[in-house]
Amino acid sequence: MSHTTGRPYLAIPGPSVMPEAVLRAMHRSAPNIYEGELVEMMPGLTSDLCRVAQTEGHVAIYICNGHGAWEAALANVVAPGERVLVPATGRFGHGWGEIASGLGAEVDVLDFGKRSPVDLDRFEVALRADKSHEIKAVLATHVDTSTSIRNDIEAMRRIIDRVGHPALLMVDCIASLACDRFQMDDWGVDVMVAASQKGLMVPPGLGFVFFNEKAAEARRGMARVSRYWDWTHRAEPEMFYQYFGGTAPTHHLYGLRAALDMIHGEGLEAIWERHARLARAIWAACDIWSEEGPLALNVADVAHRSHAVTSLRIGAPFGTELRAWLEREAEVTLGIGLGMAEPGDPEWHGFFRMGHMGHVNAHMVLGMLASVNAGLMALGVPHGAGALDAAAKVLAERENSAPVGQPDNESVEAKTCC
Ligand SMILES: *Cc1c(COP(=O)(O)O)cnc(C)c1O
Repeated sequence: MSHTTGRPYLAIPGPSVMPEAVLRAMHRSAPNIYEGELVEMMPGLTSDLCRVAQTEGHVAIYICNGHGAWEAALANVVAPGERVLVPATGRFGHGWGEIASGLGAEVDVLDFGKRSPVDLDRFEVALRADKSHEIKAVLATHVDTSTSIRNDIEAMRRIIDRVGHPALLMVDCIASLACDRFQMDDWGVDVMVAASQKGLMVPPGLGFVFFNEKAAEARRGMARVSRYWDWTHRAEPEMFYQYFGGTAPTHHLYGLRAALDMIHGEGLEAIWERHARLARAIWAACDIWSEEGPLALNVADVAHRSHAVTSLRIGAPFGTELRAWLEREAEVTLGIGLGMAEPGDPEWHGFFRMGHMGHVNAHMVLGMLASVNAGLMALGVPHGAGALDAAAKVLAERENSAPVGQPDNESVEAKTCC
């Protein structure tokens, strides 16, 4: 009964759906990279990026994916032999630690498993134990995309301050930027990494490293930084090519310009609210499904769930079978259960994820949920009845209670210095 003549939907946690405006902006012939529109576009682009990050600090742009952004950030502030503390709540936390290890850092991993957020008491004990302040940086993950756990970054900052530890707070916001509330300066984050292909709605290929004065000072204290990763000229270039350490990612920049216009046009508060409400609709459906049968949300605590990705447990082989059914019969692609079990282990087939980041609205989420519902029926997976009604109910409440979205205030732009 395959229905494959409509528009497919990639509902994975990155790369996300690209808006038509972004695609149109990129569909053009090669621009002049020495002068003109592209060159003139850069100051506004960087200041609008900083508004998304809620920082008056700096941003450096790299032609890379998220893994590259991790390496870029670390290369500027962590020297071989220096220690970093990694509070890990999933595959991506561990991944960032592995990048640090590859650069020669001594990596202490605090593993909080796959279902709970960072335990702040354990985090505090680890920091207090470091009496000689050897830990140069804490490598935190705002949302770990494998588990869909969202960590309380503000609380981690408060603990670092209470302990009086000088470590830099570095945060991976690759899955959360422009999806979940994040306020770099207010939360006391020193370095933040992001990438283009998730909440920013641009194809994979751009990595971003935001940093404040404290991090810039740490960079100046480094004996040696790879010329390519060095953020100094990228953040404050004298010549256009210095933004990118070489040729500009021309078309990605046009796409990013269009995406930033959409983001600030909708307004960050409205974007955070939209993601929160769509996530609540998804959880409502999942709660009903899990009343009967094997399906379960990975994260029990609502306060620690991502608003952009939802990890689910369903037991092998249903995770893989459900993904295959949805792709074949509904043209909806769901995410694999990354990091929940090793590939090759039969357990690996017992998980899946829903991506709901960026350019996502009610009909996309409802269509995805209805397709999952049909898949559960087709595969004979027991599940509670009424999930779609429960999701619709959350969205139906919108008219009465949702705050009206406001475009972001232009005056914020004038204040940013990057
Ligand atoms: C996607 C993601 C990454 C990795 O990004 P790539 O572009 O795949 O290298 C890292 N951290 C988080 C939290 C992510 O969501």
